[in-house]
Amino acid sequence: MGCRERSDKRGLLRVVLTGGSCIPDLRGTLPGRGAYLHPVSACLEQAVRRRAFNRAFRGPGPFDIADLREHVERMEQADQAAP
Ligand SMILES: [Zn+2]
Repeated sequence: MGCRERSDKRGLLRVVLTGGSCIPDLRGTLPGRGAYLHPVSACLEQAVRRRAFNRAFRGPGPFDIADLREHVERMEQADQAAP
């Protein structure tokens, strides 16, 4: 949802809105409307700039993305550490 890049689902992270916070749905089991994002900061920041969360979750926001951002950054670091 951040960028227009098409990708197979393996590369996408599901995000749900809970009490005004965007949180990563790691097991794909959380209820509610989901948005899909590449788990990279560039994609997340682009989604924020384009207000993609407002569209995805049909609300004016603002949405708290602190947890989501932290998670994405951790995933990026793990990716870079992997061979
Ligand atoms: Zn993307």
